[in-house]
Amino acid sequence: MAEPLFRRLAIIGLGLIGSSIARAARGSIAAEVVASDRSQAVLDRVTELGLADRAEIDPARAVDGADLVILCAPVGAFASLAEAIAPHLAPGAILSDVGSTKRSVLRDVGPLVPDGVHFVPAHPLAGTEYSGPDAGFATLFEGRWALLTPPPGTDPGAVERVAEFWRRMGSMVSVMEPAHHDRVLAMVSHLPHLLAFTICGTADDLADETRQQVLQFAASGFRDFTRIAASDPDMWRDVFLNNRDALLEMLARFTEDAQAMARAVRWGDAGYIEDKIERGRKIRRSLIEIKQA
Ligand code: NAP
Repeated sequence: MAEPLFRRLAIIGLGLIGSSIARAARGSIAAEVVASDRSQAVLDRVTELGLADRAEIDPARAVDGADLVILCAPVGAFASLAEAIAPHLAPGAILSDVGSTKRSVLRDVGPLVPDGVHFVPAHPLAGTEYSGPDAGFATLFEGRWALLTPPPGTDPGAVERVAEFWRRMGSMVSVMEPAHHDRVLAMVSHLPHLLAFTICGTADDLADETRQQVLQFAASGFRDFTRIAASDPDMWRDVFLNNRDALLEMLARFTEDAQAMARAVRWGDAGYIEDKIERGRKIRRSLIEIKQA
């Protein structure tokens, strides 16, 4: 078996993503795993499940002596977490994260990273609608992309170690500009979540009798939206507020296209409608072909 890549991995935030990393990394990727979370109940559960060698409520104590630290809390918490841990990071350590928005992480964490600590932000494109330490599983990242957004001038050796970390998790790795990352993710992830939360709200606003029927007869279309809309409110509030301009741009584009579809429906433009549906089918087929469906 390969040597562990890191001696001590500190994970801050042991929800779906943090606990999945703990499950997959302990032993073969990191010799020792230290868990930190703001919630003692989460840490008690982490200990019960045997996900870490040590649990620390204080993030500053958790990062002490760690050669890899990964922030796995909602992105809105990163600035205060970085402030708390920065003076305690070991020289030569790598500081990374899994946040869904990347410009905000560079903005909030970047300036606080001490000299001699390598900062390699990352975003695994893997997840479910569940949250908390019980929701994680070791194979979550297998066959999924991990996008790295290191700031210019980052030590290439540190970037390579984070890339190898994700490859050993079973992921494919790509390096990306943070602004490009945020625009792409606004389209493929943040906008679909915004639509799902909105459509569930719209259905909920209907009169009681109708709403019951909406739920009673929920066909797969609405059901699929409710699955996405079941996601964690803290996490998604922070994603929307930290990718504001890219999300609003994609929403504006979508709104124009939705208006064009509305016009086609109003004027009975069957060709336009068929064309759009056909494009959707093609996109679905190509996702299945590249095994990302
Ligand atoms: P989650 O299951 O809700 O877990 C987040 C954990 O962080 C919770 O235990 C939470 O504690 C804890 N936390 C919150 N604020 C904290 C703080 N200030 N200090 C320490 N711990 C804190 O969320 P998740 O889905 O794992 O998401 C975590 C991160 O991964 C987010 O940045 C998200 O953008 C990113 N991400 C998520 C997905 C996804 O699909 N879910 C995919 C890729 C990346 P409480 O329970 O007390 O709030």
